[in-house]
Amino acid sequence: MAKIPIDLSKGEVKIAKAVHDNIIVGIDLGTTNSLVAYVQDGKPIVVTDHTGKNALVPSIIHFNSPMDVIVGTEAAEKLLSDPQNTIFSVKRLMGKSYQDLEQHKDLFAYQIIDNDTDNGLVKVRIQDNFYTPIELSAKILAQLKRRIEKTLDTIITKAVITVPAYFNDAQRQATRDAGKLAGLDVLRIVNEPTAASLAYGIGLDSDTIQTVAVYDLGGGTFDISILKIEHGIFEVLATNGDTFLGGDDFDRAIQQHWIAQHNFDTSNNPVLQQTLRLEAEKAKKAISKQDHYTTLIKGQMCSLSANEFQQLVQPLIDRTLVACRNALKDAKVEKSAIDEIIMVGGSTRMQLVQDAVQNFFEKAPNNNLNPDEVVAMGAAVQADILAGNNQDILLLDITPLSLGIETVGGLMDTIIARNTKVPIKAGRQYTTSIDGQSNLKVAVYQGERDLINDNRKLGEFVLRGIPPMPAGIPKIEIHFLLNADGILKVRAKELRSGVEQTVEMKPTYGISETEMGKMLLDSIKNAKEDMAVRALIEAQTEANNVLLSTGKFVVQNQAILSAEEIDQTKTLAKALEKATKGSDKDAIHKAMEDLNEYTTPMAHRAMDHNITNAMKGKKMNEQ
Ligand code: AMP
Repeated sequence: MAKIPIDLSKGEVKIAKAVHDNIIVGIDLGTTNSLVAYVQDGKPIVVTDHTGKNALVPSIIHFNSPMDVIVGTEAAEKLLSDPQNTIFSVKRLMGKSYQDLEQHKDLFAYQIIDNDTDNGLVKVRIQDNFYTPIELSAKILAQLKRRIEKTLDTIITKAVITVPAYFNDAQRQATRDAGKLAGLDVLRIVNEPTAASLAYGIGLDSDTIQTVAVYDLGGGTFDISILKIEHGIFEVLATNGDTFLGGDDFDRAIQQHWIAQHNFDTSNNPVLQQTLRLEAEKAKKAISKQDHYTTLIKGQMCSLSANEFQQLVQPLIDRTLVACRNALKDAKVEKSAIDEIIMVGGSTRMQLVQDAVQNFFEKAPNNNLNPDEVVAMGAAVQADILAGNNQDILLLDITPLSLGIETVGGLMDTIIARNTKVPIKAGRQYTTSIDGQSNLKVAVYQGERDLINDNRKLGEFVLRGIPPMPAGIPKIEIHFLLNADGILKVRAKELRSGVEQTVEMKPTYGISETEMGKMLLDSIKNAKEDMAVRALIEAQTEANNVLLSTGKFVVQNQAILSAEEIDQTKTLAKALEKATKGSDKDAIHKAMEDLNEYTTPMAHRAMDHNITNAMKGKKMNEQ
């Protein structure tokens, strides 16, 4: 019986919110700010707060107590008044060990600790509690989840989350785990530059081939990514940048200029520090639109001209251009080969930055979308494709490793080769190797090696109930369907009887990119030995089949064979059997040829004999 919950305090019947499985949201989990977006009527919409103006949720968490945690703008207000309990820049900690961060620990006002009890990953101490970056990121994601659930008045359970293109597997996994902890099923982790391209509609047309540069200058970080987009597949050719270069450095340059000009003493004066920082940021934003900016700080008239600003920040902009040059070099791409330049991050609003990028690439950048929102918008576009709402669009992934099944002798038979675009369907026919065989084991593997033992097993099942038939007669089709979510459906069907069975598996589950890379390397290293082993096993399998049919042939045709022929056939068969036990594939082939050569005239004779008999039978029937 269904239970209807009643809110006793209000005397209302609580109607459970619907769970909308088909809405998948896009999340930009940023170092400074995070955003959530979704697609409505084909358009990405970034969700704002109750005022309808602020889409950015500052990626800041404040702990009053373990049970009293706030995230976003209100938490940002605690940065100065309660720095020990206010966490920012969690993204910089994701998947990192204490050693990774030790040299930067002064940048964090809160306490980062080494926890040697589990896997060396960093933790943050807040009061008497320890939090992992995953737990902290989960709090930001939960806030975004609440925000969109409130806006859409529905429960959201699925998301696509973006990460920098250079994030390693541990950092990507940490992001996924944070999503899970926040109650989100993370269907895909998407590279931020890929998302930005998607927001501009670049890569949505499956016919085009383009090379794109994504210039991302945020508050604290700079990234340049060179992408090759080919038939809907995004490949990151190179990334470069500086994880400690962003808009904050531009603000700092202005502050230092004013401090030097007016002899401000900021030591032990956090209020003055904060005022200078905020005024410097205002000046920076204003100077793109006006030639001069003035403001009163501590009774002193502070000013900034466009020329002064340029001189102050040119070294910072030049650093971004050096990174662009290095990225192009690593990607082996000429500047002139860049088809599109995309601007991401609040700092790309600066006219100086736009001009510098345009001069460098000798091409106008795409900047008509809000640079703070473009990644979240792209994440929403990707989410919408995954939700199946945009049927025209090709999905954007490739399978990193080959998928196949085990065949006789423990060999891997690849059905979907690595680097194939998904979704993909592929199939192949097999048969039985034993007379009357009613079950067939289908073991599915992933990897590039010739022997299944060297590959990764994804699962196995047994196709049962094949009607009894001689070996080689059943037609068993093994069909693979790999969909966009990375789910592999394997169907085995005996085509003569229609007996079939389907199972699902997830090839990417439980394997890291590093492991995949290792598997690929192993396959290259062992290619020669693998080929030799495959050739031997194939020869042995063929020999076994020849031996099986020779045995049958002798039994069925005793009447027309002489005793000498039977003896000699048995001798040659024995020699072949012996060769199959060894590891010399040439010896197996030689023994097989000897046997074939000797038995072929007998086989012809037997065939003639059988045809004659059949003709006789026919005549008799006709009478
Ligand atoms: P993000 O991390 O992408 O949110 O970028 C935030 C950075 O963009 C901060 O350093 C802001 O000061 C900077 N920013 C935002 N708007 C502007 C603007 N109009 N001109 C210059 N910088 C800006």
